[in-house]
Amino acid sequence: MNTKRNRVIILAKRPNGIPKEEDFRLIETDIKECKEGMVLVKTLYLSVDPYMRGRMSGIKTYISPYELEKPITGGVVGEVIESKSSDFRVGDFVVGNLNWSDFNTVDSRELRKVDPDIAPISTALGILGMPGLTAYFGLLDIGKPVQGETVVISGAAGAVGTVAGQIAKIKGCRVIGIAGSDKKTDYLVKELGFDAAVNYKKISDIKKEIKNNCPNGVDIYFDNVGGEISDAVMPLLNYKARIILCGQISQYNMDKPDIGPRVQTYLLIKSAMMKGFIVMDYADRYEEGIKQLAQWLSEKKLKYIESIVNGLENAPKAFIGLFKGENLGKQLVKVS
Ligand code: NAP
Repeated sequence: MNTKRNRVIILAKRPNGIPKEEDFRLIETDIKECKEGMVLVKTLYLSVDPYMRGRMSGIKTYISPYELEKPITGGVVGEVIESKSSDFRVGDFVVGNLNWSDFNTVDSRELRKVDPDIAPISTALGILGMPGLTAYFGLLDIGKPVQGETVVISGAAGAVGTVAGQIAKIKGCRVIGIAGSDKKTDYLVKELGFDAAVNYKKISDIKKEIKNNCPNGVDIYFDNVGGEISDAVMPLLNYKARIILCGQISQYNMDKPDIGPRVQTYLLIKSAMMKGFIVMDYADRYEEGIKQLAQWLSEKKLKYIESIVNGLENAPKAFIGLFKGENLGKQLVKVS
C-alpha cells in the first residue's frame, strides 16, 4: 500500500458565467491501491480545455457532466510508477482521461502509450493529441481544402486553430487567422506562415477587416468561437463554402442561448455547408491522424507552441485563462 498523499482538484460549485477559482477546491486523499490489471500513474502534465466548461454546467451533452464534490477529469500525460498490468512497465509514459490529481490508479485499458522519441511527451495533449486531431479531421474531412482556396480560422492562435491553419497552408490555401492580441496575430503570420491575421479586440469593424483580407471571399471557415466573429464571416462566403463548426467558446459562459443573425439565407444562396462535429466521431481514425501529424512535425511542416502554468493547484487558474485569451497555443499545467 502506497503511503504518499494525493492532491486532487474537485468541482466545488457549478460556475455562473466565467468560472472562478472558488468553483474548485483542492483536497487530499490516499492513493488508491494498484490491483491486478491496474497501473499507478504520476501526473506530469494535465490539459485544460474549453469543452470542460460545458461539463461543469451539469447538463448532459455528448459527454456526462462533472459531479459536484468529485474530481475534475481531463487529458493527462504521466509516468507509470507501479504496474500490475502486462501492458505497461514502470517508466512508461502514458496518456489518458484521468483525474486532475498528483497520482491516478487506473485500469491499464484506459491508457495509451506515449513515445518520447517522436516528440516531447506534452505534445500528446496538444498537437499530437486531441486538439491536433480536431484540427486534422475538422479541416480535412469537413473542410476538404483545395489549393488556392481562402480559409478563415477563428480562435486561430489556440491549440486547435494553430494546427488547423498550418494544415491549410500545407494544402496550399490562403489562410487568415482571427485572434485576440497583437502578440498572437504576429505569431500566426511571422512564425506559422499565415497570410494575414486580424486582432478582433483592436478593430471596430470586424467584417470590413476580414473582407479586406479575403479579396476572393471565404471558401472555408473553421469556427472555434462563434458569436459576432462568425456573424461577420457569414456574408463573405463563396459558392459551395464549407463551415466547420468546431467550437463556440464565446457562448460557453452564457446562461441563455445567444440570438444572432439568421444564417440560413447565407448558406442557401451560396449552396454552402455548415457541419458540427466532435473529434470523438473520428476515434477509429486517430492512429492515422497522429501518424500524419507526427510526420509533418518531423518534416518541420508543422510547428507548435505551449503555454505552461506550473503546479496542480494552479490548474483552475489556467483553465479560467482560456476564457480570457491568456494562452498562445496549447495551455498545459505542469504538475511534476
Ligand atoms: P484555445 O483556442 O487554445 O483556447 C481558447 C481561446 O479562445 C483563448 O485563448 C481565446 O483566444 C479564445 N476566446 C476565449 N473567449 C473568447 C470569446 N468570447 N470570443 C472569441 N475568442 C475567445 O482552445 P482550443 O482547445 O484550441 O479549443 C478551441 C475551440 O475548439 C473551443 O471552442 C473548443 O471548445 C473547440 N474544440 C472542439 C473540439 C471538437 O471535438 N469539436 C475539440 C477540441 C476543441 P483569443 O485571445 O484569440 O480571444
